[in-house]
Amino acid sequence: MTRTRPRVGITTTLEEARGQHEIWRAYPDAVERAGGLPVFLPADDAYPHYEEYLSLIDGLLLSGGQDILPSLYRQEPWGGLTETWPMSPKRDRFEIQLTKLALERGVPILGLCRGLQLLVVALGGTLWQDVSLSGATKTKQIRHFQNLAAQWPSHQVTLNPGRLRAILGESSLLVNSLHHQSADRLPPTLMVSALAADGVVEAVELQGESFALAVQWHPEHLVKTDPRQLALFTALVEAAAQGRRP
Ligand code: MN
Repeated sequence: MTRTRPRVGITTTLEEARGQHEIWRAYPDAVERAGGLPVFLPADDAYPHYEEYLSLIDGLLLSGGQDILPSLYRQEPWGGLTETWPMSPKRDRFEIQLTKLALERGVPILGLCRGLQLLVVALGGTLWQDVSLSGATKTKQIRHFQNLAAQWPSHQVTLNPGRLRAILGESSLLVNSLHHQSADRLPPTLMVSALAADGVVEAVELQGESFALAVQWHPEHLVKTDPRQLALFTALVEAAAQGRRP
């Protein structure tokens, strides 16, 4: 059988306490709609077969989910959180190792929400453990954990010239926002692709030829109402098609 659809590996959310892997169906739906073949990867370092998993896929989609363990970006856990946000160290370790290897191999990467934070941490950057800690939010106070279903955009982002802006074809657009953390210090290999009006980093991209970009919003929940958001998945599938092994 001739294979025509580039294979896009989608990392699952590991719920360690419940002993389950979970994933919003919007992720495989968006990959399917963009012409890719969705393949689930069990994000758990009990399966540390990173080379083998990468040999199965042409592109990598880092999905949303839990907070990343602060020690993985050299911080102590901040005591001021008013809510208990879930974490999954086993998922963190799997995704960081897989992402580092994917970057080495030039496997195209699209990170969504937590996926942006994961890409930043995998490359040596740091996060704000809560957006309220980021100085910029004190003057603007944009709500980044929206009180709305995920299919509704809620705040504006402004795009810098670069790969993401070329893909979306806009210099600003409305996005949804379901995060309480954000990128702080970026590694030198990543550039800021989009900012919210309060200065929160809303997208990053790898500088150079390799395709690796990430957005803090959830485009998988917007693709049915906003075709520009589908272009993110189409760009990943096209990059995956170019680099794939026979
Ligand atoms: Mn936001």
